[in-house]
Amino acid sequence: MKNASPFIIVGQGLAGTILAHHFLEAGIPLVIYDSPETHFTSSKAAGGIFNPVTGRKLEKTWLAEDLFPYLVDFYSRLEATLGASFFYPMPLFRPFANVEIKTWLMDRKETIDHAFLRWEAEGVWVEQAGWVDVVKLLQVSRLYFIEKGLLKTETYTGHEAIFCEGFHGQKNPLWASLPFLPAKGELMEIQSDEPSEDYILNKNGFILPLGGKQFKVGATYSWKEFTNEITSESREALEDKLKGMGVEAYEFISQKTGVRPATQDRRPFVGFRPDGKAGIFNGFGSKGVSLSPFFAKQWTQEILGKAEVNSEASIRRFYHLFSV
Ligand SMILES: Cc1cc2nc3c(=O)[nH]c(=O)nc-3n(C[C@H](O)[C@H](O)[C@H](O)COP(=O)(O)OP(=O)(O)OC[C@H]3O[C@@H](n4cnc5c(N)ncnc54)[C@H](O)[C@@H]3O)c2cc1C
Repeated sequence: MKNASPFIIVGQGLAGTILAHHFLEAGIPLVIYDSPETHFTSSKAAGGIFNPVTGRKLEKTWLAEDLFPYLVDFYSRLEATLGASFFYPMPLFRPFANVEIKTWLMDRKETIDHAFLRWEAEGVWVEQAGWVDVVKLLQVSRLYFIEKGLLKTETYTGHEAIFCEGFHGQKNPLWASLPFLPAKGELMEIQSDEPSEDYILNKNGFILPLGGKQFKVGATYSWKEFTNEITSESREALEDKLKGMGVEAYEFISQKTGVRPATQDRRPFVGFRPDGKAGIFNGFGSKGVSLSPFFAKQWTQEILGKAEVNSEASIRRFYHLFSV
């Protein structure tokens, strides 16, 4: 596989799209199979947010110092290549949830503080955040791949490819032994005069301004079933989140759903099986926008013999699970 040409990439969701662009930049030949009719594309439901700060303790996300400068560089370059706009750096505000949490965080400010945070009386501003319009990115990329004759809208049934199948990958016998832990998610789009259009609000959920007084509101997590059906429970949960962020008056536009390809150790699956015949680029969970460019770059460099994929993301950590 490693010496065969061209590489077959299975899936034109966010992961397959980002990997394909890196292969093209590096001059590695490829063809893409994508079949949203038989395997729905979760990327189309993504909020698209990139945010280097996580959790109650406002910690830096894993590899933030590497991921965030690279994603700015990559998405800006890709906008120029594709002649389209889909990358929107934007401030993100995290209000303190209540007085106790504010006091708790302020008491530890010196130990918590890092370059991605800017403290204010009512909360913290997160630097280097923003969002990617993933639907647009996938659409313009699809046209670009079609123009180059690289896309087949067919289900792939072979075994010698690089699989970017999202959560569908857990049903592929090649990868069934990997510890996937998918999480269904839903969000809604609304029209309202109330939220600010200048920043992303993040308080037990998010309100993301799309322009024209339209917003995305997200997101739910559920592990009960993995269909692409929207649910009334999620609609209620999203309405509660919106209320919790202080929005009362709005018009509902739509609700969307997808399944995050999350993993038990919260790290991606990147690399070839031990025999080198099939590869995987998957497991980006709820952070596909920020993780996939960096790991697409690392894996491309590994294929060219110039670098190695980070050992926490490489599927070499699971080689003991593959039967010979
Ligand atoms: C509600 C929600 C909100 C989210 N918000 C964010 C966010 O704000 N920021 C963020 O970074 N991430 C977010 N995510 C996560 C993000 O969507 C994922 O990390 C990312 O989209 C995963 O992309 P993927 O390409 O791995 O999977 P998918 O998008 O599912 O793509 C897989 C593709 O493979 C194709 N396919 C599968 N099997 C085959 C086959 N055998 N033959 C042919 N084609 C095949 C499918 O048709 C599909 O197009 C969110 C997810 C959800 C559900």
